[in-house]
Amino acid sequence: MPIYEYRCSRCGQEFQKLVYGQTAVACPSCQSPEVRRTLSIFGIRGGSAPVASEGAGGTCCGAGGCGCH
Ligand SMILES: [Zn+2]
Repeated sequence: MPIYEYRCSRCGQEFQKLVYGQTAVACPSCQSPEVRRTLSIFGIRGGSAPVASEGAGGTCCGAGGCGCH
């Protein structure tokens, strides 16, 4: 379920809202429809992407068997 973060362009209120399809979003504070979607919660979750490991092959340090650790 997409949770979006909004900021009211009229009063500056920031709020989050679950959005299904094209639901109209209004500011909970001043009821203004002039809100801007700032970012998605899902966009900032996860942190750094996992780096592809080179451990599958027989290269040094791959399996930890080369003694350099
Ligand atoms: Zn507002």
